Amino acid sequence: MRKKFIAGNWKMNTRGIDGELLAAAVVKGLAGDTRVTVAVCPPFPFLPRVAQIVAGTPVALGAQNCYPKDDGAFTGEVSPAMLVDVGCKYVIVGHSERRQIFKESDEYINAKVHAALKVGLQVILCIGETLDERKANKTEAVLDTQLTGSLAKITAKSLKNMVVAYEPVWAIGTGVNATPQQAQDAHAFVRNRVGQLCGVAAAQTLVIQYGGSVKPDNATILLSQPDVDGALVGGAALKAEDFLAIVRAGVG
Ligand code: PEP
Repeated sequence: MRKKFIAGNWKMNTRGIDGELLAAAVVKGLAGDTRVTVAVCPPFPFLPRVAQIVAGTPVALGAQNCYPKDDGAFTGEVSPAMLVDVGCKYVIVGHSERRQIFKESDEYINAKVHAALKVGLQVILCIGETLDERKANKTEAVLDTQLTGSLAKITAKSLKNMVVAYEPVWAIGTGVNATPQQAQDAHAFVRNRVGQLCGVAAAQTLVIQYGGSVKPDNATILLSQPDVDGALVGGAALKAEDFLAIVRAGVG
């Protein structure tokens, strides 16, 4: 039985005080409930402040990105070891905004995955097709390419510290979510392909989140699909009330 995992990706939003208030409201609303795994992923500058708010609570801290080196002359970058140092448990890697805006390749994303795992972070690996790719019936081919590249040299043991987030690009921030069937089909494909790459047993325990316009009113049906094990939430994670409603939907 896979435990549902709801993570909030705040993207480049909030200021320090908003982040603190948002995290505090999530902690308060959750009231110590551990039936669903919950994480918040604020922008880099606010990680230490939010870390203080969530310390000792069931709300885990995640970062939105990392650079695949420990230290060095990489101006402006943040290493996985630094994220551990400020209290992160998770790091999001391969988000479509990074793939599209910052031209990140599967090879580069794979390097980040390895670097993050090496220092003990848990990785939320994002994959997903664009609208053109879906319309051209290329969804599975795209997911296949992204999984094969991003999971290169990932063993069944390493996969235990990974989560995959299926996020169709056309659903992110658009208000148009994948239908429950579209999500289920993609998740089943992902689980099967990960099984081929890393081992069937490991793939069975892999948590696969859905991301793309998850809101309180569609969370229950999406999360009730057999292979949908949680959600990576963008816009709705910026309102504690909405985020908590999605978490409650994960309780079932
Ligand atoms: C995301 O940023 O990963 C995301 C899914 O955003 P939204 O929920 O706003 O579509």
